Amino acid sequence: MKRVHNFSAGPATLPVEVLQKVQKELPDYRGKGASIIEMSHRSPEYTEINDQAAERLLKILGADSDQWEVLFLQGGASAQFMMTPHNFLTATRTADYIDTGAWSAKAIKEAKLFGNVHVPYSSKEQQYNRVPDNSELSFSDEPVYVHFTSNNTIFGTQFSSEPETGGIPLVCDASSDFLSRPVDLDKYGLIYAGAQKNVGPAGVTVVLIRKDFVGKQHSEAIPTILNYKTHIQKLFNTPPVFAVYMVNYVLEWILEKGGLSYFSSFNEKKADLLYDELDKDDFYRGTVEKESRSKMNVTFRLHTEDLEAAFLKEAAQNDLVNLKGHRSVGGVRASIYNACSMESVEALVGFMQEFRKKNN
Ligand SMILES: *Cc1c(COP(=O)(O)O)cnc(C)c1O
Repeated sequence: MKRVHNFSAGPATLPVEVLQKVQKELPDYRGKGASIIEMSHRSPEYTEINDQAAERLLKILGADSDQWEVLFLQGGASAQFMMTPHNFLTATRTADYIDTGAWSAKAIKEAKLFGNVHVPYSSKEQQYNRVPDNSELSFSDEPVYVHFTSNNTIFGTQFSSEPETGGIPLVCDASSDFLSRPVDLDKYGLIYAGAQKNVGPAGVTVVLIRKDFVGKQHSEAIPTILNYKTHIQKLFNTPPVFAVYMVNYVLEWILEKGGLSYFSSFNEKKADLLYDELDKDDFYRGTVEKESRSKMNVTFRLHTEDLEAAFLKEAAQNDLVNLKGHRSVGGVRASIYNACSMESVEALVGFMQEFRKKNN
């Protein structure tokens, strides 16, 4: 078996232990003579998986099951851009959306279909190269919630802590840093994350929703499947069973490794190694302000596009793959989520040093 050093932004590398476990038990799930994806989603086997995944998630986050609901939904994080305002915004209500990148902007576009959107801060004019300090946020009078993107996958910026809202519940698109570090749950009403960056395969979106936040839902008609309450009450329709099954094992792996305190320091070490290399001289140039740097997606440029192309080509020849920056921004992006090993980051840093020496 050969595994490359995979820096894909998403779908991203997964723990090989999890892949092997799934491979082993796929054809015959625990003596049932069928795989988990060939059984009813109401079977005791799948019910156990769904419940266990929700329990593990709450445990990892230190969340109280009396206060929080866990939902495994479909449609990606992109469907949450619409579903959240559909449930909480109306023509007479306002929500605040902090604009720190392409995903924030997409969330804003959807929210405007349902109600008033106030943007307390935008870094668009600076090509989204930073996230705001608390002092730069100017909220509206009484927003239903404040939406932010905790990690900006495309631009390589990340909030170092939650924006201070003075008690207004946060709604967070945490797709690309979910379970990479502890969060201050008391500040949130809702957190959503497409699984394919940090917690599993594509096909499921994890939604954590606070029970008292659900009470802020408006009473106008919401299509059944788009109503959070539908999914809170029961398993409404067929969930993405294979994706949830894999997420459950990734969550088990996170717990075994030591949970969020382990991953937070592990991810910091990996990011430090890369940023130290970028900061050595100006051969590589980080694209964002230092205080806003992401520990998940490390973005940088070289002096010319030709040099970048050569970098990416030679990197791939050394099994360092999926390093190309997002098509909208170019350059290089190393995505170093939980499942990216220290060996992979060290291999990348070693290659960067060699490449600098040859081309300087
Ligand atoms: C990838 C990503 C999305 C889009 O997720 P889909 O599951 O493809 O809809 C949204 N927000 C952020 C921050 C992302 O990284």
